[in-house]
Amino acid sequence: MLVEQIEARGETSASVLQAMRSVRRELFVPEEFRAYAYSDSPLPIGLGQTISQPFIVALMTQLLEPARGQRVLEIGTGSGYQAAILSTLVKEVDTIEIIPELGRSAAERLRRLDYVNVQVRIGDGYLGWPEKAPFDRIILTAAPPEIPPVLIDQLKHGGRLIAPVGVGMQDLMVVDKAKDGKTTTRSVLPVQFVPMKKAALP
Ligand code: SAH
Repeated sequence: MLVEQIEARGETSASVLQAMRSVRRELFVPEEFRAYAYSDSPLPIGLGQTISQPFIVALMTQLLEPARGQRVLEIGTGSGYQAAILSTLVKEVDTIEIIPELGRSAAERLRRLDYVNVQVRIGDGYLGWPEKAPFDRIILTAAPPEIPPVLIDQLKHGGRLIAPVGVGMQDLMVVDKAKDGKTTTRSVLPVQFVPMKKAALP
């Protein structure tokens, strides 16, 4: 039903719709919110965090232009739902979560549901994942005040980064890194994500 509504908006490819159909969102939300798993709204996942609205997950997945051979970095694992969707479309998803409890439960859930090409790291997304860089695609699902330059550095030439950017109401931004390394940025629509946390300074 929900995927049909997303399909009706006409902006989502068949492969992304198929990915949305194949991942059972109810398995990524706490028991008490399962009844709402297929309504088009964000839901609490504990510790003050939320699983994004399905329409936004579909839109961001679409904007990422995922393809089979790619490696994708996600910042903000949360429940693992966005990572699961992406894992059906690309070669490998590496995802970073700053809240250890959330990262651990997402990793356990993804393993249990057999999303074998997702790796969860507990850490600070502002640092990216240097050992695994560069990435074909990077997606942020928590909002930084500005696009972190470190993450642009970890993007391949010819790659794309998607992020909600700003304080309070944010803009969903698409950053393209050309073959020569130059970046162009455009804003797609206003969104509201949880803010990206700064790790405590040493
Ligand atoms: N993509 C998730 C939803 C993400 S909610 C899903 O599909 O369920 C945003 C997540 O980003 C939260 O879990 C939050 O703890 C995490 N986060 C916030 N700041 C972060 C940072 N600096 N590094 C990594 N994760 C961060």
